Amino acid sequence: MYESTRGNLSEQTASQAITLGMVPGGGLFVPSTFPALNWQDLQGLTYRDIAQHVMTPYLPEFSQDVLSDIVNVYADGTFDGPNPAPLISVGNFGVLELWHGPTAAFKDMALQVLPNLMKVSLSSVELNSDVLILVATSGDTGKAALEGFKNREGMHIVVFYPEGGVSAVQERQMTTTEGTNTHVVAVKGNFDECQAAVKRIFALDSLKAQLQEKNLIFSSANSINWGRLLPQVVYYYWAYLQAVEQGKVTPGSKMNVVVPTGNFGNLLAAYYAKRMGLPIGQIISASNKNNVLVDFFSTGVYQSQRAFFQTISPSMDILVSSNFERFLYEMSGRDAQKIRSWYDSSNQGMFTVDPDTLKQCQDTVYAGWSDEDETLETISRSYKAYQYVFDPHTAVGMKVYEDYLATTKDQTFTVIASTASPFKFSSNVLTALQGKQESLRDEWVALDDLTKLTGWKIPLGLQGLNNKPAKTVEVCEAEGIVEVLQRMFI
Ligand SMILES: *Cc1c(COP(=O)(O)O)cnc(C)c1O
Repeated sequence: MYESTRGNLSEQTASQAITLGMVPGGGLFVPSTFPALNWQDLQGLTYRDIAQHVMTPYLPEFSQDVLSDIVNVYADGTFDGPNPAPLISVGNFGVLELWHGPTAAFKDMALQVLPNLMKVSLSSVELNSDVLILVATSGDTGKAALEGFKNREGMHIVVFYPEGGVSAVQERQMTTTEGTNTHVVAVKGNFDECQAAVKRIFALDSLKAQLQEKNLIFSSANSINWGRLLPQVVYYYWAYLQAVEQGKVTPGSKMNVVVPTGNFGNLLAAYYAKRMGLPIGQIISASNKNNVLVDFFSTGVYQSQRAFFQTISPSMDILVSSNFERFLYEMSGRDAQKIRSWYDSSNQGMFTVDPDTLKQCQDTVYAGWSDEDETLETISRSYKAYQYVFDPHTAVGMKVYEDYLATTKDQTFTVIASTASPFKFSSNVLTALQGKQESLRDEWVALDDLTKLTGWKIPLGLQGLNNKPAKTVEVCEAEGIVEVLQRMFI
């Protein structure tokens, strides 16, 4: 069963948690226990079958046949190649490439599964409504969600992104999405403002009532939705099993993970896998210049009211890290009262945790960050050393891993979660590889140039993008989102 981090709802089924997305009145759904799952029992299985094993205990009302169909996306050619998440040996560490899905973003790992989880959940809670999925994106979620939900019967999706806050390739990926049920809207402001505006919509009872008359209910495809987190637990098991099979980890000994962090979903999934019994050692959180989490881990003060930086790793340009609430719930010993006090709106995004909770956080996660120059420099240095091309997000992870190594001398085999293909950020990657470039580069030329330079293939989802017909994008103020939705659906 599932409960709210703020103690205002408990004993909810997985279907209820997935249908609702977030707890009405505030709070996030968390599983009331973490079932144990032995990695040894999964040896020799395919990714698809491992996904079924990891997800089964969390979805008791889903039949095995239904779940088996849902996880089939990992085996039916949706992901390029037979392994949806290969562990690549680079130097003496591993890189878990999570971007072999249709949109070349790690978010495909979950967003190819979520629509079906939602469909089954809806029928299980006996709701005959259509769902309206609202997504705020800093770049990658948008396209991955559009791709997952396009042309799904009974589902509509509207993606909001910060105007000018995503890369040309990301924007083009979104605006070229086919599908009669997909919408894309640019919002003036940065991602946090965009995300906050979308979150406010979920609490608007008047709009909810208007939509209900049209037989529509809201849900979320952001990683606040349990259906987004659960499929992410799988790839840490998969990483470990590959590391054992490749002889990088002796069976049963620990493996560290480095996670480039934004909304803290990817990292939380690693922590959940550890709670289920996977031998994960240190969990390392890597931030870019928006290093609000790094400050938190050193001081216990979460201060999101601060300067926002637009960086070359835009999917991590986040100051209000949604899933951190779930993490603090565990770190505080599941103290819903504390969570409520910290996340009370009167605090305006700033709170200080008690010393015990802080100590627990520090014992569980090592947090570091990389500035813009260091990130570019890491891309270039790693390419020279390993002939491996990191995208700027993963490069942030690499830099923080190097800092961690220098500080701790920890020789445990470490896996860096690689969250995007370098081709999504070709222009900046080229700048890193070839030295400083004068002015803005054409992103489409950059894609070809990066192929020529590295010999790597452009991911399928990014090929021919510039020639596809694009939808016109509506632009609105954050306060104008309601009106846009009313125009579309009422
Ligand atoms: C979403 C995203 C992240 C951050 O992941 P979270 O789960 O939000 O912490 C990092 N890198 C890329 C490329 C992303 O798309």
